Amino acid sequence: MAKKYKKTLRFKVIMTLLIIFILGGGAFAFYYFTTPQISLKGEQTMEVTMKDGYEEPGAEATFSFHDISSHILIDASEVNDRKVGTYTVTYTVDYLNKTVSETRTVNVVDKEPPEITLEGGEAITVQTMSRFEDPGAAATDDSDGDVTDQISSRGIVDTSNRGDYTITYTVSDSYGNKAKATRKVTVEGEPDREVKGVIYLTFDDGPSGSVTPKILKTLEKYDVPATFFVIGYDGDPDKIKLMKRAIKDGCTIGIHGKSHDYSKIYSSTSAFMKNITSLGKDLKRDLDYDAFVIRFPGGSSNTVSTEYSKGIMTKLVKKVQARGYYYNDWNVDSTDASGNGVPVETIIRSVKDGCSKDGYNVILMHDTDAKGTTAKALPKIIKWGKKKGYKFRAITPDSPMVHHGVNN
Ligand code: ZN
Repeated sequence: MAKKYKKTLRFKVIMTLLIIFILGGGAFAFYYFTTPQISLKGEQTMEVTMKDGYEEPGAEATFSFHDISSHILIDASEVNDRKVGTYTVTYTVDYLNKTVSETRTVNVVDKEPPEITLEGGEAITVQTMSRFEDPGAAATDDSDGDVTDQISSRGIVDTSNRGDYTITYTVSDSYGNKAKATRKVTVEGEPDREVKGVIYLTFDDGPSGSVTPKILKTLEKYDVPATFFVIGYDGDPDKIKLMKRAIKDGCTIGIHGKSHDYSKIYSSTSAFMKNITSLGKDLKRDLDYDAFVIRFPGGSSNTVSTEYSKGIMTKLVKKVQARGYYYNDWNVDSTDASGNGVPVETIIRSVKDGCSKDGYNVILMHDTDAKGTTAKALPKIIKWGKKKGYKFRAITPDSPMVHHGVNN
């Protein structure tokens, strides 16, 4: 009895499944034979680069096994392959009063980097000891247009040393495509100035009440001039006296800037320009002195300014020159700014190692109150220099100017 019942149950299950299968298949077949079918050629989601552009891959349509592809209406009007974005293409078939449609997603992406054009060409030659001015570069991008402002350049051309130098220019578009161009700069030939074996002693961040007088005393003793890149002195009569004394001794005064606070001076080009022109006015008023040269706090190669204004150095090096100022970096670092109280011997060693008789030497030193060891090192540096046959000069408008590569 139980066995028979089981058999009946199994039979019922099988029959039910069979009926479902037949009905399902029938429904599917009915649908298939009475509804147009569209199948897309190519991927349902396509990635297209702006460079290659969009080419319609097409689609096929069938109705009851026969090809009705010619009835497909393709609407790709939304797709703009000159602009990054996501677009939809619609495929519609209207056949025997049945309308069916399919869509394709087209992602237009930008994979093309900007194009950099180097003004003046990929290889240029400059005269030894001449003043090197980077002719600059321009860049355009298929998405962003003119991206010249975004170019950053790296590399130093030291015209005091013959040889090949490389300046690298890089720029990215807003989709992260990077372009890079390099320029070879060859420094060659005989110097066009009588600056071979010249030392320019430069002191930044002063004047100070304790160290500047010591430095002036040494310069007077050895009859050597120097250049002081001063900061704001707040009308301090003692500091004015020190600067007057320096000028009387044949020294020159350069502008470092009224404030040395990176976050303020590099916040905008106008903030920077105001910081130097206002100090220039103070010097004119208090010393009747026309300052002609500036030194960027941190040098023109500084990267700290990136934190406050991207690309500001690229603009500033042009702007200060357009305003009639020279700017001078350095090519010998005394390392006295690597900390306070840098040992006298370390400063002397850095200067000796950095100087070259074949070129000119702009030595970076500091004369704030904290630089007592710089004042102590100075007599030894001058004695060594004189013994080696170096000539000491102050920076004048005729001097060669050391320019670091701009990094921001
Ligand atoms: Zn400084």
